[in-house]
Amino acid sequence: MISRRFLTPLVMAHLALWPATWSHAGDTRIKVVASLPNLGSIATAIGGDRIELTTIAIGTQDAHFVDPKPSYMVKLRNADLLLINGLDLEIGWIPPLTQGARNSRILLGAPGYVDCSAGIPVLEIPSILSRTEGDVHPYGNPHYMADPLIAETVVGTITEALRKADPASASYYDDRRKAFVRQLHEAMFGKDLVALVGGAKLAREATSGTLDAFLDGTNIGGAPLRTKLGGWVGKMQPAKGKPVVCYHKDYSYFARSFGLDVVEYVEPKPGIQPSAKHLEDLTERLKRGDVHLIITRPYVEHRSTDWLAERTGVKILTLPLEVGGSPGATDYFKLFDFVTDRILSALSEPAAAGGR
Ligand SMILES: [Zn+2]
Repeated sequence: MISRRFLTPLVMAHLALWPATWSHAGDTRIKVVASLPNLGSIATAIGGDRIELTTIAIGTQDAHFVDPKPSYMVKLRNADLLLINGLDLEIGWIPPLTQGARNSRILLGAPGYVDCSAGIPVLEIPSILSRTEGDVHPYGNPHYMADPLIAETVVGTITEALRKADPASASYYDDRRKAFVRQLHEAMFGKDLVALVGGAKLAREATSGTLDAFLDGTNIGGAPLRTKLGGWVGKMQPAKGKPVVCYHKDYSYFARSFGLDVVEYVEPKPGIQPSAKHLEDLTERLKRGDVHLIITRPYVEHRSTDWLAERTGVKILTLPLEVGGSPGATDYFKLFDFVTDRILSALSEPAAAGGR
């Protein structure tokens, strides 16, 4: 990729007359299209002013079911990179869009087709690949962006794709990746703990499920390291082990990192609305009284959750899963600030007695 500052006015004039062969005439920024807002937020953080970003879905849409409008094909036609979540999350809309866009740079298998699920530890991989009865998670749980530690791998994937598309700016992308990962570790564990131990060590311990043992078993100045724990993980300690019900199976990664215990789902299978029998069974489960919260999303039907709340008094909390899914969630960091705030305050309020 040629940086604009190295182009003479004469060359710039020639490029302007060259629209059929080089779509970037007059603009040297890498054209990036992100399928979803969380990926778009990370692309902006790494690509800065060297990229021109278009995000297809908005945060209040269900990522499984986006309408593949022709206007999106136009956006894809000139793209250098397409960032997708993968694991079939966008199976209903990205393939028709890329086929319609007729841009060989971003077709499956081309360097510009960037599947951000590469290298992530996928949860809930079924033993048999099946879409029977409409299961929308046939390759395992695709909602990995709900775990900030997995975002670190995604940041690496996006940085590598940008470096390949624009080698002249490689060090720019690398510097921004390092800054983002440091910010992510500090947001996750708190600045003090990251300064003492290093973010990479904490991320490794958290990912292997040994963070608690490490924090309790290591003393600094006579006090356990746990006393230095801050960030989202520190803030979410009161929520650890708390049983919740989720509408859709989209909080498995989040729950693993933050210690929530998702005991049931309103959907009997991902993508399948509940039957009357399933709702009755859930009501019985909720009447045990240990679950105080049903976490749902802005784009799913509310009839079932309202019905459950009326019968059991369990609180309904509608949370965004993507950047832009609520007014406060304006980037990937603010999304987790917002979500952790809302979960904590909902869990700390007393449960309504006996339903409403
Ligand atoms: Zn899903």
